[in-house]
Amino acid sequence: MNEKIYDIIIVGGGCAGLTAAVYARRAEKSVLLLEKSAFGGQIAYSPEVENFPGFTKIGGLEFSDRLYSQAKALGTEFELDNVTDIKTDSEYKTVITDYGEYKCRAVIIATGLAHRKTGLENEKRLTGHGISYCAVCDGAFFRGKDVAVYGGGNTAVGDALFLSDICKSVTVIHRRAEFRADLYSTEKLRAKTNIHYELNSEVCALSGDERLQKITVRNKQTGESKDISVSALFIAIGFLPQNEICKNIVALDDGGFIKAGEDCLTSCPGIFAAGDCRTKALRQLTTAAADGASAATAAIRYID
Ligand code: NAP
Repeated sequence: MNEKIYDIIIVGGGCAGLTAAVYARRAEKSVLLLEKSAFGGQIAYSPEVENFPGFTKIGGLEFSDRLYSQAKALGTEFELDNVTDIKTDSEYKTVITDYGEYKCRAVIIATGLAHRKTGLENEKRLTGHGISYCAVCDGAFFRGKDVAVYGGGNTAVGDALFLSDICKSVTVIHRRAEFRADLYSTEKLRAKTNIHYELNSEVCALSGDERLQKITVRNKQTGESKDISVSALFIAIGFLPQNEICKNIVALDDGGFIKAGEDCLTSCPGIFAAGDCRTKALRQLTTAAADGASAATAAIRYID
């Protein structure tokens, strides 16, 4: 047990959590930020960010590095540790992790989202062997090869754009004819010459012994299936909330998101929710940053 009592513990080191740390430290609150995998969050895996005010274009990793450095320079304490539970039944809140326990006056939950899986047989076995959820991390392994991207949102289109520059060809498989991604990115993709489209289609099988060798794609309109030989499949079919740790202390909506408005207040006093993990209409870097500021301000007010 760490004996120190923090003013604020932030769970999750993405854009929302790191922004909350910046605001809380600037108000001279003691802050511990707990992150289970890597500081920076999902945006670190985005090839390029072109819609954050003030930046015409910045790499996702550089953006998250800058935010992390800013929070660190202001005196935020960081631990790489997995939070398993939060107890609210005494004067201070106790955040329980794999490696210890931490006490604080207020908690900001900024746990973001986890990759949605296809649920297909072999998905887990072949992950890291041709199946990936991160084009920026793994794309270079498939330089000059034929690869595929599954999904029709901004992540899928951004991944396809990134991969089209380094791979021989990219097959984009999407379950509808229209892309969910913004028009600007979709138009950029349309201008590429090495992209193949399998629209109104779903991936229905993943095959390969040691590595992924082919995917089976079924057209939902014709009912026809075909095999496509690829060295890699990048799955970008959205995200799901990961709010297991707080399901017994704050109210969740039907989708598993924390019920909290723009003020980031949850159903439990002293627990605040920021970023993609809460109920909201628009999940973007800008709205995550806005939430970080709001949640920190609300937590500071609660403590004072
Ligand atoms: P998303 O917008 O939720 O898109 C997920 C895509 O996967 C959709 O095209 C969806 O199809 C498809 N899909 C969902 N479930 C599926 C399933 N079970 N089987 C097959 N396909 C499935 O997710 P995202 O692209 O990861 O983006 C998440 C958020 O981050 C969005 O708000 C996005 O705008 C934002 N983002 C922004 C940027 C940027 O602005 N630079 C970059 C990346 C992400 P349908 O379209 O038919 O629903």
